[in-house]
This record gives sequence, C-alpha cells and structure tokens, in this order.
Amino acid sequence: MILIVDDKPENIFSLKTILELHSFPTDTASSGEEALKKILRQPYALIILDVQMPGMDGFEVAEAISGYSKARDIPIIFLSAVNTDKKFITKGYSSGGMDYITKPIDPDILLLKVKTFYRLYEQNRELNRIQASLRSEIEFRKKVEGELQEAVRKRDEFISIASHELKTPLTTIKAYVQLLERSIDAGEPTRLYVDRALVQIRKLDNLIVDLLDLSKIESGKLKFNKKPFDFGNTLTTAIEMIRQTYPDYRITRKGAADVEVYGDEMRIEQVIINYLTNAVKYSPDRKEVDVDAGVRADGRLFVQVRDYGIGIPKDHQENIFSKFYRVEESANRFQGLGIGLYICAEIIRRHEGEYGVESEPGRGSAFYFSVPLKTEQTL
Ligand code: ADP
Repeated sequence: MILIVDDKPENIFSLKTILELHSFPTDTASSGEEALKKILRQPYALIILDVQMPGMDGFEVAEAISGYSKARDIPIIFLSAVNTDKKFITKGYSSGGMDYITKPIDPDILLLKVKTFYRLYEQNRELNRIQASLRSEIEFRKKVEGELQEAVRKRDEFISIASHELKTPLTTIKAYVQLLERSIDAGEPTRLYVDRALVQIRKLDNLIVDLLDLSKIESGKLKFNKKPFDFGNTLTTAIEMIRQTYPDYRITRKGAADVEVYGDEMRIEQVIINYLTNAVKYSPDRKEVDVDAGVRADGRLFVQVRDYGIGIPKDHQENIFSKFYRVEESANRFQGLGIGLYICAEIIRRHEGEYGVESEPGRGSAFYFSVPLKTEQTL
C-alpha cells in the first residue's frame, strides 16, 4: 500500500488515479498529522509526501517518521516545487530510501520511481521473511541440539549408574560360584554346569567392565598408571588367557617382542585381549589366529592380531573404532555392544599410539597398534 500525503484534494486525486491505474493499492492523508497517525497504524510500502503543507510540512513528517522504529525504513518520495534545493530535501531523513519529484508531476517519472521503490520494498519484505524463517530454523536446531545433548548426558549417566549397580552383586555371585566350583570334584557332572555358569558370569563381568570404562572415558576419568614394563611378558599372559578360554583355537605367536614399554600394562593387555577375543569371536569357521609383535624400523612397538574369519567390508572399516559401531550385516549373528574397539582406540591414543585394521570380507582381518618404546625422555 502506498500512502499519498497532500493537502490539496485535486493532487491526491490525480496521484491516486495514476497509481491505481497501474494496480498500486493506495491510501491517502490530507495533512502531516493524519499521515503520522496512519503510519503508526499500518505498514506502508512507500509514502508520497508533499513538502509544502500547512501545519506539519513534509520534512517535519519525514523527521517524525525517522523516529518510529516500525516506520523509519519506509521509502519516501517528496513532491516539491520546481526550484526546491535538492540538499534541503534530504534534510532530516536518513535511514529509509528517498527521492523527490518536482511539480507539475510527470506521470512516467512518477511511475518509474514508484515501481523501483515498490520492487525494493517487496525484495526487502522477502529478505525479512527469509531472515525470520532462518532465525526460527536456527532457534529450532539449537533447541533440538540442546535436548539431544541432554539425552546423551542422561544416557551416559544411566550407563554409569547401571554398570556400577550391576558390578557389585555380580562380583559376589562370581565369588560364590568360584567357591562352589572348588567344592565340586572335576569328574562330577554338576561341575560342568558350574563351569558353564562361570563362563557366562565372566562374559557379563567383561561387559560391565567395558561399560564402566566407557563412562570413565566420557567423563574424562579414565586414569592411566604408566610405568616401564616388559611387553613380552604381557603378550604371553594375554595369549595364555585366550588359549585357556578358547582351547579349540590355535593361536600362533611370531616375535618375542621382549622390549620395555612405558605405559599402563593392564590397559595395553586389555587392548591385546580385546583384539584376540574379537579375532576368535568373528572367526567361527577357521579357528586360527596369528599374533605378530616386534619393533618396527621407526623404533616403535608394533602388534598385530590376524584372523581368517568373516572380515569387514571396506565401507565399515573406518568406523569400526567408533563408539557403539557394529557391522550391521553381522550384528545379529554375533553378540556385542560395539564399545570394545572404542575403548582400545582411547587406550592407544592415550599412549601416543596408532591403531587400525586391514581386512577383506570372507578372508579375515588384521587389527594392529603401535606404541613408542620406553626412551630416556619417557622417564
Ligand atoms: P563388539 O564386538 O562388542 O560388537 P567391538 O567394538 O569390539 O564391539 O567391535 C566393533 C565391531 O567391529 C563389531 O561389532 C564387528 O562388527 C567388528 N569387528 C571387530 N573385530 C572384528 C574382527 N576380528 N573381524 C570382523 N569384524 C570385527
């Protein structure tokens, strides 16, 4: 809507006629005061303002408009006498677009200017609309993000509390079942049941320990007790443990790797056990695992656990060390939480180490890591 402000009804009439002929909706005011009242009530696309009016003149009206936050950007076309000084016209009005037309009015010039301002007004309105919708989109995303973080926070808190609560009774159960195991002779049939129960208890125990580790990582509380240790011994212990748990698997070791490493021995052992357990778990058909360990040319300890099992498709390999990530195709066949490798990655990272996997579906996987050896600087 265009507001025409002029004290002479004949001027208003001719301007209104020209504009409406070109389909511009118009409104009129016959004084500066009336114009200001109308401007406060409704938004206009453009104001055509006579400069010389009794009472408030056009400049005073423009000055008053510039003080209204809602109206200060409405462009104004002044209607002035032929010899009005252009500089004078710009007085008092600075923020909105502005132009002038001299009397007698040339309809073509008037239309040209009105069209230009109208187009600008519409573009501006569109921009404001886009800006408002972008702003609300941003607000919405921020809200969702906040809520999501709060979900994530509650989930982590739940995992932490639940795993602590589960750990205590499980430790007691484990102790009693171990006592029971010792009280039954090896040949007794009930001993088999107790042994089976113990296998499941150990699995549950490992799951809970993993969950506890996960919550420690999340809260920045995974602590390391680093000191120099003999890596060869650690590797032997880990392999022996897996051999005893999975006697039908042939675990071959290459490389003594009798070197001193500076780090948390229990945590490094945890990584090896995790790699080995996975190698066994994901190779149900070919029960062979090769462990390679030694010092590389760059002076770092390199450990690799190779299996000949199901392997990992290429597109999953880079995500395999992420939290809760499991290969979808095999997730139903093999139980797990998808946090073991995530914990391994964190442990290796905290030892300035590197880790990775090479794998081919159907042919097996080789999980590896490397850590620096003990040096003078590490002590
Ligand atoms: P989990 O075994 O409990 O699912 P991990 O974090 O140890 O969790 O492993 C993540 C995923 O990586 C597994 O779900 C599996 O898809 C894949 N994976 C790990 N080790 C192997 C392996 N040796 N062979 C094939 N896939 C493996």
